[in-house]
Amino acid sequence: MTSPAAASSPATVLVFLDPAFQDGRLADASKPQLMATDQGATRGDGVFESLLAVGGQPRKLQAHLNRLAGSARLLELDIPAEESWRRAITTAISEYRGQHVPGSVENDELVVKLLVTRGVEGSAAPTCWVQTSAPGPAGRRQRETGVDVILLDRGYDSEVGERAPWLLLGAKTLSYAVNMAALRYARAQGADDVIFTSADGRVLEGPTSTVLLAHLETTDDGAGGVRTIRRLITPQLDSGILPGTSQGALFTAAKAAGWELGYGPLEPRDLYDADAVWLISSIRLLAPVNHIDGKEIGTPELRRQLTAELNALYATIE
Ligand code: PLP
Repeated sequence: MTSPAAASSPATVLVFLDPAFQDGRLADASKPQLMATDQGATRGDGVFESLLAVGGQPRKLQAHLNRLAGSARLLELDIPAEESWRRAITTAISEYRGQHVPGSVENDELVVKLLVTRGVEGSAAPTCWVQTSAPGPAGRRQRETGVDVILLDRGYDSEVGERAPWLLLGAKTLSYAVNMAALRYARAQGADDVIFTSADGRVLEGPTSTVLLAHLETTDDGAGGVRTIRRLITPQLDSGILPGTSQGALFTAAKAAGWELGYGPLEPRDLYDADAVWLISSIRLLAPVNHIDGKEIGTPELRRQLTAELNALYATIE
């Protein structure tokens, strides 16, 4: 018998990109769909994207398609044209929404993943599919409650990305075992998440997120009063991190709203000195950081106010 929870949250929907099916080929996620010799499975050789759809509309779709194409270029993977992805995404979203009980998906959010592997060993064609599923409850909770974070050494210096392009640091590859191991390590220490640092002491990124920090500065307004300069800062994009689509979009919206923008280099003490720090990503969105290595960041009131302000800006992003 199907439980009410299972009835209201449909299984993952899979849509393979297949030249024989213009809108993508629906496949049953409860049945095996990949060959055991697919190099995504045997080597983690491939790229992916995770994006949020709200009310059936994928957010920042062009930015995700651009990054997917960029990741594929770095891995020399020849992927289908953007139009095929767009059609398969539409199919996957409408199939998922068609299955679910209206109102049963919280905030009508769903996770859309775009996946590419190098394909079956010996074949020239990549394996590509789109999958839609319900977001996990932890991300939504962490948007509200914030996260405690530990700093972990990633073991590379911040210039290795330029020096060693074969490390693929700027690509969103399927090789996330290290990122997941870092999260398990953090949880074993009683923390929720991680900020990686480089061997030369720079702040890099989270295992699945970009680091953002805010600095408020009060100055003379030249007319006898004071004004507050609000600055939003993120690590340098060329320091071997993944360029975040959420950070990029939020920076654009924040600039239009009068924030000043800055790009690292950042060191851990910049995080401790910040008025607020967030981990930002497409599915969880802004997760305020409460503590780093046990030290409180800003104050609860400041974190709440600034998070509300940035959430409102983020909500304006297409
Ligand atoms: N950095 C890493 C390593 C990530 O895996 C992610 C997202 O998954 C991000 C940053 C944030 O990227 P986006 O904002 O595009 O989701």
